[in-house]
Amino acid sequence: MDLRSAYPYWMLRNGIINTYPSLTENITTEVTVIGGGITGALVAWHLCNAGLATVVVDKRHIGMGSTAASTAMLQYEIDIPLYKLIKLVGERTAIESYKASYQSIPDIKAIASKLNADLDFKMRPSLQFASFKKDIPGMQKEIALRKKIGIKTEWLDEKMLYKTFGIEKSGAIFSNRAAQVDPYVLTHALLEQSIRKGANIYDHTEIEKIIYTPRGVTLHTTEKRVIRSRYIVIACGYESQKYIPRKVQELKSTYATISEPLNRHDLWYKNALIWETATPYIYCRVTSDNRVILGGKDDNKQPAARDKALSLKTRLLTQEFHKLFPHIIFKPDFKWAGYFASTKDGLPYIGMIPQRPRTYFALGFGGNGITFSVIAAQIIRDMLTGKKNDHEKLFSFNR
Ligand SMILES: Cc1cc2nc3c(=O)[nH]c(=O)nc-3n(C[C@H](O)[C@H](O)[C@H](O)COP(=O)(O)OP(=O)(O)OC[C@H]3O[C@@H](n4cnc5c(N)ncnc54)[C@H](O)[C@@H]3O)c2cc1C
Repeated sequence: MDLRSAYPYWMLRNGIINTYPSLTENITTEVTVIGGGITGALVAWHLCNAGLATVVVDKRHIGMGSTAASTAMLQYEIDIPLYKLIKLVGERTAIESYKASYQSIPDIKAIASKLNADLDFKMRPSLQFASFKKDIPGMQKEIALRKKIGIKTEWLDEKMLYKTFGIEKSGAIFSNRAAQVDPYVLTHALLEQSIRKGANIYDHTEIEKIIYTPRGVTLHTTEKRVIRSRYIVIACGYESQKYIPRKVQELKSTYATISEPLNRHDLWYKNALIWETATPYIYCRVTSDNRVILGGKDDNKQPAARDKALSLKTRLLTQEFHKLFPHIIFKPDFKWAGYFASTKDGLPYIGMIPQRPRTYFALGFGGNGITFSVIAAQIIRDMLTGKKNDHEKLFSFNR
């Protein structure tokens, strides 16, 4: 699958952070994680910390799948607002999903604090503005519901929004809990620490056949090597769909661009992560080197057309940004695009399917894919170590 265009910013900025060998012999381990993106790295880190012998394999270079393209806004807000999610999946599942997602932000902060790397991790507030006046009643319902379940937000009316952010829209939800990170560095940092705890990581190692045996799973690579494991975790991002008998993901193309560094340090109030109620939405955030990342303009284009549309999409995104912040000059420095998958209910798929014994899926789809990956790593660690996890059912395939 052509997951993304050639030059996402993180890869240009960081280059080759670490090199990993490809697999040249047959090996045996307790758990093999297929996929060395942010999801596989989080899973491996959690498994190593739980004392499980872990191997990670990736057919590309580590972190160079969708992870390299991610704009890495870490938000608890699920793509579908709580009041709509309740109608889709029922009150209990919706509320618990929001609570799990809310908790994943301090959880990822705690993980980041244990890693010895310049992750560009920062806690930030988030702001979701009303794209249209008609969105306001729903947003106010949303604030009331979130308050009821212990998620504190503030309503900024038209005046307050303009006063605080200089944005001319009819209102916005301001939330204090969100974060941002360099997802590519984070992936390598998680794996580096996993290696120190005994993990073995192989890139340029593609699994082409999975054979289930009574005592485990045998993985065959395209280079004719064999990995024998008791369990496997599929963390293949949007390429995981081929291992699942029914369609669970909807693919779109999405676009991102990053500005030249700007002179001012606080570009807007607390450099919050900003997004909107329209679907698809545009969003922006500020990096620590004072660039603005801007994304959105999703469509149904296939990779060749997607990459051709990059310049046009960058122009359109820039125009939208200047409508929002006429006083900030956004000069695009780099641009990229990629596939982006979502699910019908905005929730991820985590756990097992009957067709694949000893196999755990870690599929963090949607706009907050990375926060879902944190939850996936926790659930799978608990499933593998026999610990009860209250979130297991929420994101299961038979929810
Ligand atoms: C432009 C863009 C912006 C985004 N913005 C955000 C955001 O702001 N916040 C957010 O939370 N999420 C965002 N996302 C989504 C986020 O990037 C994804 O949820 C996340 O990167 C998925 O990580 P992953 O590890 O599951 O997948 P990947 O990074 O794709 O990793 C999967 C790995 O599996 C490997 N693999 C697949 N098949 C095999 C096989 N058979 N054998 C061996 N290896 C295999 C692949 O090579 C790949 O490296 C964005 C995505 C894009 C494209």
